[in-house]
Amino acid sequence: AAELDGRNRVRRFEPGMRAAAQAARELEQELHGAVARGEFRLVYQPVVALADRRLTGFEALLRWDSPRLGPVGPDRFVPVAEAAGLIDEITGWVLREACATAAAWRHLGDTTMAVNVSASQLTSPDLVGCVAAALAGSGLPAGALVLEVTETALVGDPERAAACLGALRALGVRLALDDFGTGYSSLAHLRQFTVDVLKVDRSFVGAIAEGEPLPAIVRGTIDLGRTLGLEVLAEGVEHEHQARLLAEGRCDTAQGYLFARPLERCDAEALLLEQATARGGVPAIVPLPRA
Ligand code: C2E
Ligand code: MG
Ligand code: MG
Ligand code: MG
Repeated sequence: AAELDGRNRVRRFEPGMRAAAQAARELEQELHGAVARGEFRLVYQPVVALADRRLTGFEALLRWDSPRLGPVGPDRFVPVAEAAGLIDEITGWVLREACATAAAWRHLGDTTMAVNVSASQLTSPDLVGCVAAALAGSGLPAGALVLEVTETALVGDPERAAACLGALRALGVRLALDDFGTGYSSLAHLRQFTVDVLKVDRSFVGAIAEGEPLPAIVRGTIDLGRTLGLEVLAEGVEHEHQARLLAEGRCDTAQGYLFARPLERCDAEALLLEQATARGGVPAIVPLPRA
């Protein structure tokens, strides 16, 4: 099938592409005003220290319940929101909501709250002001907020991205490189952009097999992080042997279904409360297996 695009050029569409384009248009239509209509919510996935499995923080993950489309995952709607220029508004909401929640949890312990930031926002002038406003509005100490960026965010306009990250760090927030290892020229990025946390992508964590040494990429990332003085966090830990091998390899922290799925706010709060009130200190959310 062929059709004219806006500039009267013939463009060929595969049937699959046509369906995808139609779906994206529909998503975009529904996304307009979704923040104002209160259709978004956050879920919170725990981060644990691998050495003792204590909760050290949460990552806020966005959920959209569209009245017309039903639940739509962020992997589907975030790219559409970026393309449609709606991501700044959405991220503003996420930052305010996540900071307010984290501030309300401060009396339950000193945990961090991580928020994902889209690639396009590192070159938009809004982000720094938006983060500063969310911190000021909530009273959350800047050091408790972690902003997660992916490497692809850094390649388009590295100079502006570096300036933006520098301004964010000057506020006192921590920075994490998300999905580390899946982008390209990771090493160059680490030299140009100062970050605090490396998040090992779950595709690498998934390759950690029982009874085998850590895959070279995981081993190398942990060593690199340690050498640079960074926290190394493993994403997508689903199996006990993965957690054990990562701990033995001196990876610092982890997230994954083994420990907890992303939780509704009240369930995340209950977990924090449980740990804060347990006798003899904070219990592990998943007991360490006996050696
Ligand atoms: P991400 O930041 O790398 O988040 C990790 C994703 O892996 C989450 O999917 C999480 O639910 C999932 N996950 C966690 N543990 C496991 C596990 O053990 N196994 C498996 N298979 N998956 C696990 P989710 O919530 O669907 O988010 C997908 C992506 O959407 C995120 O990847 C992030 O890039 C983006 N995203 C989510 N929330 C936001 C947001 O507020 N703003 C922006 N800009 N992007 C967001
Ligand atoms: Mg993330
Ligand atoms: Mg990730
Ligand atoms: Mg991801």
